[in-house]
Amino acid sequence: MTLRAEETRRVLLLGGTGEARRLAEALAADPRYDVISSLAGRTADPGLPPGRTRIGGFGGPDGLAAWLRDERIGAVVDATHPFAALMTESAVLAAERTGVPLLVLRRPGWTEGPGDDWRRVPSLEAAAADLPGERVFLTTGRKNLAAFAGDARRWFLVRSVDPPEPPLPPRMETVLARGPFTVDEELALMREHAIDALVTKDSGSAMTSAKLTAARTLGVPVVMVDRPPAPDGVPIAATVEEAVAWLAHAG
Ligand code: NAP
Repeated sequence: MTLRAEETRRVLLLGGTGEARRLAEALAADPRYDVISSLAGRTADPGLPPGRTRIGGFGGPDGLAAWLRDERIGAVVDATHPFAALMTESAVLAAERTGVPLLVLRRPGWTEGPGDDWRRVPSLEAAAADLPGERVFLTTGRKNLAAFAGDARRWFLVRSVDPPEPPLPPRMETVLARGPFTVDEELALMREHAIDALVTKDSGSAMTSAKLTAARTLGVPVVMVDRPPAPDGVPIAATVEEAVAWLAHAG
């Protein structure tokens, strides 16, 4: 069956995650949707999803609302990272102002299991204030190191996709790498550097969970930074499949 142009719905997919990419892939061949994936432009080589893409901020909620109107967007899926709180807030406000249906696609967080030694904290600052260990593996992202910059006593191993941004801890080494990582790779890295504590944000991503298994195996404590709260009054999907189902019925 051929759909007429007015039956094709324009979808803005706010991306930067594996889920956003998989959703773009799932919708790419579906004639009901004309998907525009949006990336913040933070990574030098983002690896673009299939379909149309745009890169860069919208200029806050007002800019996004204007963009949604100009582009005649029929639905928005916010599939940004669970810690991308500003973009999510902006999407909620712009959706309210324009009446465009919004779904937040947010994978569940990680849960502690037998043998894990996790300490949950509300922020990076709280993580830095009560840090176990002397040789700490930081996987919190290249822009999230300021909280640890004043710690001259510990040694840090920082892993990020692009080079980390100052302010940085004085005693550190950087590993530039993009996941997914295997448990064996994580074990080797943590053993090589004699890591005795791991700090991570609760992203919930299967792509980066091997470090948690490695930490459990090595008896290394994990400082787990909790997510910002999900927005109120907005439907939330936990999986790409749920997002596909929502799009089929939304609006
Ligand atoms: P953020 O703090 O919530 O967003 C800051 C600003 O960046 C937003 O206000 C928006 O600018 C712009 N922006 C963010 N995501 C965008 C998108 N998908 N498309 C267009 N503009 C976007 O976000 P962040 O934490 O810096 O994350 C930036 C990107 O990296 C997101 O796409 C996110 O999914 C991805 N990411 C983040 C993390 C993390 O830990 N935070 C980890 C992995 C990937 P305007 O206000 O001008 O619209």
